[in-house]
Amino acid sequence: PYSGPSTSDLLKRRKLYLPTCLGPLYTHPLNLVEGKMQYVFDENGRRYLDAFGGIATVSCGHCHPDVVEATVNQTRLLQHTTVLYLNHAVVDFAEALAAKLPGELKAVFFTNSGTEANELALMIARLYTGCHDIISIRNGYHGNATSTMAATAQFFHKFNVVQTGIHHALNPDPYRGVFGLDGVKYANDVQDIIDYGTCGRVAGFIAEAIQGVGGVIELAPGYLPSVYSVIKKAGGLFIADEVQTGFGRTGSHFWGFEEQGIVPDIVTLAKGIGNGAPIGAVVTTPEIAKVLTYSNYFSTFGGNPVCTAAGLAVLRTIEKDKLQYNALLVGSYLKERLSSLMEKHEIIGDVRGRGMLLGVELVQDRHSKTPAKAEMLRITEHMKCLFQTQTYLYHYMGVLIGKGGFHGNVLRITPPLCFTKEDADFLVDVMDYAMSKM
Ligand code: PMP
Repeated sequence: PYSGPSTSDLLKRRKLYLPTCLGPLYTHPLNLVEGKMQYVFDENGRRYLDAFGGIATVSCGHCHPDVVEATVNQTRLLQHTTVLYLNHAVVDFAEALAAKLPGELKAVFFTNSGTEANELALMIARLYTGCHDIISIRNGYHGNATSTMAATAQFFHKFNVVQTGIHHALNPDPYRGVFGLDGVKYANDVQDIIDYGTCGRVAGFIAEAIQGVGGVIELAPGYLPSVYSVIKKAGGLFIADEVQTGFGRTGSHFWGFEEQGIVPDIVTLAKGIGNGAPIGAVVTTPEIAKVLTYSNYFSTFGGNPVCTAAGLAVLRTIEKDKLQYNALLVGSYLKERLSSLMEKHEIIGDVRGRGMLLGVELVQDRHSKTPAKAEMLRITEHMKCLFQTQTYLYHYMGVLIGKGGFHGNVLRITPPLCFTKEDADFLVDVMDYAMSKM
């Protein structure tokens, strides 16, 4: 039984000592004390189906025993800096990671987070090309440091600090974008930016294959391949931000960019890479990576032995537990069931995403597409309440899902990849009920 401080005490102290911390997510904040695969438990032992854990770094499942074991074993053995000495955990994971990437993408650089990975990727592109201009997409999210904040194109993730050299292209959003599903038309905007806003050459282009924070937006078909040739013509590097779309989450492919049929010059990773261990990575070609050897560039802890031991265990677990296949199977089923809710609930304007990266956009009416933000908040609050499960008569469980999107009206569903069909049914039934109570 839990013997820690009460929720109100924690909240009071968090406000005092962590005043800038985002959240908490709910009106009555959740005090989570334990996690097990797709479930988390609060201080009273109440269970919640965590359909948002994927965003918070969990890929294999909370405290997956194999990942925990690998992490604990390495912690007992040695934790040290990544640089200066040899250690097999670091090299083993770099090798295994490189093996998962296509073509010449074999040079790995470890970081501590997604922000750091993207900062480094942008710098590499600038060093390699000798250009400064980067193009990113409106509504994308890439991190919270200077360059990545600049590449991020949503005002509520920005401060008024100098953010130079980034151009934001039209968002190829099939639901709200001006050109609908025509990916090539949106790609022309990238060409326009180069023609009108730069010297004609750029350092690179960065994008998520599916915008996560932006509200699970799948880029219009044909967009990325067209942009790829535009960027290549301008001498730039193509950076794929796989922080949310990587590690099998989209189901059909291990990496989000693979679905688009392109091979990027640089790939950035974080979140699911360590199932909760703080690690990120930049993977590029040995030739491009050379630019980092012209100076003494290092990260003390990026990819340290403990985090890389976790990373290797994650790769093995994805394989052993067939998690990518599960993401495809259960994710497609879940999407189908969510889509069928559209017949019943007018408030659902769009259901989208792939695998276990899904979004449900809520609107006040389908014609005007006016965002239903307040309704979305009520639904997420309601879903957190305890509902009876079908498995055992007296078992109750709440459902945790995310909120997001530029208009704050998208329900985000990114569960750990071990989510089952029964979990999917439970989630949809609870959402259905919460919507019918609107
Ligand atoms: N890229 C994407 C696509 C992300 O979703 C995030 C985090 N939400 C980041 C980069 C930044 O990662 P971190 O928070 O680990 O710095």
